[in-house]
Amino acid sequence: MTPQKTFTIALAGNPNSGKTTLFNRLTGARQHVGNYPGVTVETKEGLCRHNGVEFRVIDLPGAYSLTAYSPEELVARNFILDAKPDVVVDIVDASNLERNLYLTTQLIELNVPLVVALNMFDEAKGSGREIDIELLSKLVGVPLVPTVGHRGEGIGALLDAVQRVAEAGERPKVPVRLGRELEDHLHQLTELVEKHGLGDGVSPRWLAIKLLENDDAVRRSIESTEANAADLLREVDQVRTHLERVVGDDAEIAIADRRYGFAAGACREATQTTQTQRLDWTDAVDRIVLSRLLGIPIFVLFMWLLFEMVFRLGAPPMDWIEQGFTWLGATVRSALPESELRSLLIDGVIAGVGGVLVFLPNIMFLFLGIALLEDSGYMARAAFVVDRVMHRVGLHGKSFIPMLVGFGCNVPAILGTRMLESGRDRLVTILVVPLMSCGARLPVYILFAGAFFAPNVAGQVIFALYVLGIMLALLMATLFRKVLLRGPTTPFVMELPPYRVPTLRGLLIHMWERGQLYVHKAATVILSASIVVWFVLTHPAPPASVGQLPPNQRAAFAVTHSYAGRLGKLLEPVLTPFGANWKTGIGLLTGFAAKEVVVSTLGTVYSLGEVDEGSKELRGALRRDPDLSPLGACALMVFVLIYVPCVASLAVIRKETQSWKWTLFVVFYTTTLAWLMATALYQGGRLLGLG
Ligand code: GDP
Ligand code: MG
Repeated sequence: MTPQKTFTIALAGNPNSGKTTLFNRLTGARQHVGNYPGVTVETKEGLCRHNGVEFRVIDLPGAYSLTAYSPEELVARNFILDAKPDVVVDIVDASNLERNLYLTTQLIELNVPLVVALNMFDEAKGSGREIDIELLSKLVGVPLVPTVGHRGEGIGALLDAVQRVAEAGERPKVPVRLGRELEDHLHQLTELVEKHGLGDGVSPRWLAIKLLENDDAVRRSIESTEANAADLLREVDQVRTHLERVVGDDAEIAIADRRYGFAAGACREATQTTQTQRLDWTDAVDRIVLSRLLGIPIFVLFMWLLFEMVFRLGAPPMDWIEQGFTWLGATVRSALPESELRSLLIDGVIAGVGGVLVFLPNIMFLFLGIALLEDSGYMARAAFVVDRVMHRVGLHGKSFIPMLVGFGCNVPAILGTRMLESGRDRLVTILVVPLMSCGARLPVYILFAGAFFAPNVAGQVIFALYVLGIMLALLMATLFRKVLLRGPTTPFVMELPPYRVPTLRGLLIHMWERGQLYVHKAATVILSASIVVWFVLTHPAPPASVGQLPPNQRAAFAVTHSYAGRLGKLLEPVLTPFGANWKTGIGLLTGFAAKEVVVSTLGTVYSLGEVDEGSKELRGALRRDPDLSPLGACALMVFVLIYVPCVASLAVIRKETQSWKWTLFVVFYTTTLAWLMATALYQGGRLLGLG
């Protein structure tokens, strides 16, 4: 049968309600990933066929609400408003019904064709909760279908309901009543909206609610489309001020309260819990995991396990990749005659990209570990446990999760700050995430610590650098909060989902979603940077007369003669205060492309062809450099830890903050801080007679 018409259905729902799982079930392999225009919030789209009808399925970003405060929420909301999908499917975590229904109330306000999937129905049952589906459906005025996403149960019934609603264009039957007081004021605004013919097909009641809430995006759109917007908005403000005087609260908060009231009421009527069974084991575990006495030690234990896993499990595949690239380099060397092209391929592309991909196993294991913590439900507890500490520096407990991701790679970490609801919390977190020592900085530490310290001391030096990064991040967050971004930390409920056994499929999807950003970086930024670095280190070519020198000296001369060499010399005055010289300076310069590039650049600079951080020769060469010392090496590592984030990180900072000002601020503050810290360490150490 050929499909008659394609219906568009959008999946909305709270994070962790099982949206991705259901999306994958619905669309199978037929999906593709894109970005919403203008923002970096990801969309997934796929096709699905049912009863000969074709559905285009869109996975909207996870959202607890539909305010204009967070990019996810705004994207989800704008998609529903602008693309006008035939049906919105609201995925609700039935085991956490009351809280999830909050979003449902707002979808009902939008007055779009709606179907609710009561997902995680197995868990709701397992915890001893009984939901009277028919009654609940009547109370909220929307069809409800129980589903169990990871087992694919209820998918057929869900699609039946979706098809029915789509074909009939059926909208929610019951508005979410907000109480007499609010309804009166709402009524006034609805009339105003209708009188001016606002909204272009959008529910007037919804617009009125948004105006009452003082929603920024709605106000702005009215300002840009209405001739007499100023008068209109003044009238709106009068109504809102009046309401706020009556209810003695912010209109937005009053509305949120009523919505919660609606959700709680619907829940109480339509569900029954056999209290004895409910939540007991999650509760029991939480009593230990969240306790004042054991909370922090358990947290530290998990973090320690995480890093053990990353480095132990990551080591063997790291060797394989390393051997693979060595083999590739040797093969290219023997296959091609000596030429510019061969040098570009071996010293530029293979050395550069290989140097980055070597860390892929570590990064993937870190993201796997993080996915495990998240999917099992522990991550929310970890955020809860560190919340008290984080509050002291003016951050939210949730900021800790992107910071942890930052140990792998700063790029997904910065993207991860989207889970923070307040723009200010988000910005502060973005500003300090680059201080978390990412996987790319590790090879630099291994090189320098390995060259100047005995193996057991080297490990401690590296650990100290990680700790220094965390301390500085907390310190700078406090400072930014006090000076640049003042204001109270936004309070909100720290949601504690029940513990869950993660599924392999879910873990792999979550690991891959973050890890692919790292691969992407290797294939784009690092590839191009390697080529540029190779070029400025090999051009202009030295005069022909150096051909008489022995190969080693010839190479050394070529580097001094190159553009990079000249720039390094030029920068020496700012490098010497912290013990660097023009050679290490070139490494620091190229590290702007990606921090791992510091190592491969130094390899070329110290004229040894391609090297990696394990190379004995480069270590030896560094030790023999009369300008360097253990103290100088420490100062250099401190500098590498703190100074300017790599190009890829800056690109996402720009995208996520939508501001060049903040991006440049990050460049400036990190580099200044790095110089000050490294110089203080170096000069202080010398005063104490250490170097
Ligand atoms: P999203 O954040 O909404 O995209 O949620 P995911 O699809 O990533 O699901 C979060 C976790 O819940 C995953 O570990 C899923 O395997 C699991 N999950 C999804 N649906 C169900 C369900 O119906 N029952 C149970 N017990 N687990 C589910
Ligand atoms: Mg998802």
